[in-house]
Amino acid sequence: MNHMTKDIEQYLQTKFGNSLEDSNERQLYQALMAETRNRLSKKRYDYTKKLKESGQKQAYYMSMEFLVGRTLRNNLFNLGIEDEVRSFLAEKNFDLDRIYDMEPDPGLGNGGLGRLASCYLDALTSNDYPVTGFSILYEFGIFKQVIANGWQQEYPDNWLGMGQYGLVHRSDEEIEIKFYGKTEEHWTNEGLKVNYEDYKSIIAEPYDLMISGYKSEAVNVLRLWKSKANAGFDMKLFERGEYARSSESEAIAESISKLLYPADDNNEGKALRIKQQYFFTSASLQQIVKNHYKTYGSLDNLADKAAIHINDTHPSMCIPEMMRILMDDYNYSWEKAWEITIKVFAYTNHTIMAEALEKWSVDLFAPILPRIYTIIREINNRFCQYCNEIGAASDLESMSIIHNNMIRMANLCIVGSYNVNGVSGLHTDILKADTFEAFNRIYPGKFNNVTNGIAHRRWLGQANPELTNYLNGLLGGDFIKDLSNIEELLKYADDKTVLADLEKIKYTKKEQLAKYIKDANGINVDINSIFDVQVKRLHEYKRQLLNALHIVYLYRQIKFNGLRPRPRTFIFAAKASSGYVMAKNIIKFICTLSDMIEADPLVRNYIKVVFLEDYRVTLAEIIIPGANVSEQISQAGKEASGTGNMKLMLNGALTIGTLDGANVEIHDAVGDDNMFLFGLKTPEVNDLYAKGYRPRDYYERVPEIKETLDFMRTINVDGTRFDNLVDYLINQDPYMCLADFESYVNKQKEVEEAYGDKDRWNRMSLVNIAKSGIFSADRATQEYTDGIWHIARAGR
Ligand SMILES: *Cc1c(COP(=O)(O)O)cnc(C)c1O
Repeated sequence: MNHMTKDIEQYLQTKFGNSLEDSNERQLYQALMAETRNRLSKKRYDYTKKLKESGQKQAYYMSMEFLVGRTLRNNLFNLGIEDEVRSFLAEKNFDLDRIYDMEPDPGLGNGGLGRLASCYLDALTSNDYPVTGFSILYEFGIFKQVIANGWQQEYPDNWLGMGQYGLVHRSDEEIEIKFYGKTEEHWTNEGLKVNYEDYKSIIAEPYDLMISGYKSEAVNVLRLWKSKANAGFDMKLFERGEYARSSESEAIAESISKLLYPADDNNEGKALRIKQQYFFTSASLQQIVKNHYKTYGSLDNLADKAAIHINDTHPSMCIPEMMRILMDDYNYSWEKAWEITIKVFAYTNHTIMAEALEKWSVDLFAPILPRIYTIIREINNRFCQYCNEIGAASDLESMSIIHNNMIRMANLCIVGSYNVNGVSGLHTDILKADTFEAFNRIYPGKFNNVTNGIAHRRWLGQANPELTNYLNGLLGGDFIKDLSNIEELLKYADDKTVLADLEKIKYTKKEQLAKYIKDANGINVDINSIFDVQVKRLHEYKRQLLNALHIVYLYRQIKFNGLRPRPRTFIFAAKASSGYVMAKNIIKFICTLSDMIEADPLVRNYIKVVFLEDYRVTLAEIIIPGANVSEQISQAGKEASGTGNMKLMLNGALTIGTLDGANVEIHDAVGDDNMFLFGLKTPEVNDLYAKGYRPRDYYERVPEIKETLDFMRTINVDGTRFDNLVDYLINQDPYMCLADFESYVNKQKEVEEAYGDKDRWNRMSLVNIAKSGIFSADRATQEYTDGIWHIARAGR
């Protein structure tokens, strides 16, 4: 520890010519970021030496998104030096929390998928597994959301300004990536050769973010590729007088790592997205293969040493790119290259929604990646041939990789990898029985499930130190290393003192959240009210609108029908994809409810609505520990897993939810008595669609729905009306808010009753915390390491 303080003082002296006393917070922030990074680099040196000696197999996690969250607190916590650094700074009158607040979230992801990737890197590192993450160094991560008059506005998130100090620039490992141009095949003595000409050349520059583990030996890295022009290549073109072409490459290079697409559901800027996907998968694979070849002088044993994971279809070009490298750069035959490829890759599917399954038009794709396209075509030809041979030709309508001139990336992943997993029991069942039913028949055993998990050291240990310290005292600290030990807490389910202590801790976290709300939105909330939380991306299938309809219902009942409910604070936070008009209208509607209630001297005594702007990991860490109720109300069959549900449960919130995604497994763990299930189940949803869903029938038949929607038409705070939302619900309602309305409202009454019985509520909350062990990312990643990748802990 002496070391760290000395290192910080040294940094301030050499960088700024300052003593610690003369430094400002900005300088101290930089010193802490840089010295923490250096400390991890040094630790990594020993760790990689050990890995080289053991020569063991490693995993590589490819993901277009990593929602990292702040790193400084995580790293100090993991290194076990947070308390010392805090008190050392306090002696000099610096507040560590203010320094933490200077760090931007590296927002290299949109939502759950990106956060999952980061939770997995954290967990794998804490358990000493050798894994490297690969993604793009987006100059602008997920946009910063500002709410102005209830409307979402997007501002660029220039995170590198203050975020750069955590990165290690590895200019020694740059890689060339080629786009456009044309290929020519010709036969030589050594077989078929492919010439690739007139391409545009881009350079991928690596930047490494150190990933620390909790009291672990491992320090892994997240390698982020930044694009830049290939100066040497461009100079040659320039000298040949091809000015236009040399500046074209530069323009492509500039755009590729510029920004993350602010959509987690569908694709915009398709051509650029194709380039981004190829850019980072090609750079990553070239690096993996090069290192392997350097060590072993052969690629024959690649699959013995490397498991490469494809997180959703965004990195699916890994498969043809591996074929290209093996054949074009290392002279492998097609057959031998394919044998290696399908032993290396495993794929996780994250969605069953048709509009979110990636497809690229051949006309768009082929000119950008001519060689990759010919390889995909050949993979498909051979796959179709195989299906013909085994009598599965009639299923090619759904299984063919290229269909109606579109390339279906999920199909490519299924054909080109040895394992496909879904992310919750229900989701995997739907994949097998429905979405990929034909594939499941021809590839028995290829599909399996790994229910998602969360990094409990961040979501409990760091976000809720009060609860962590308490459980530490009560249970001993074992649950921090292994969350399944938290089940010991069940012993205290009827212990009045423990229940009262837990209630006190929740109260403290609610106070902290209330202070944040007051500072951010100027709204005073009642700490004793039920804190009812729905935080996640704004998407129609997640049904923030159903939650809002319940609020409208309550408003009307309080104002006109004498209802006097137990006070409740409805807390929302959500970003909407920038082009998603309906989602933005829903945000405006929720903000309007907030204003309308604040202006009503009667209603505001009972309910409040708060919409917190700019949902991100750091905000989640503030909101989740203060929640009493966790809203997980997606239409059944639509949420692949959810991980927000797990974070809230771990912090003692009770779930009101549909039987969807991992809610099913939460229900299995805690039982009916400890959660609030409502609504249609997946088969009932499907039946209702098949029968022809008519939301108007519900509007006409259920008086509460009619009254609520009719009243909604009159809502108007600043001239904005919501007839469009009402009409949409009555005429379309694609996610069946009206069909589930009654069941939801009734279940909410049960929530309120249960909260009124303090002992019962606290006991339920305790059971939820105690049963959350299975949702640790340690458990989930163990299923990947043992069941899919077959890798061991470092040095074993
Ligand atoms: C956990 C998390 C999510 C995922 O939330 P769901 O409720 O599972 O959709 C999204 N964004 C952030 C910032 C998160 O921390």
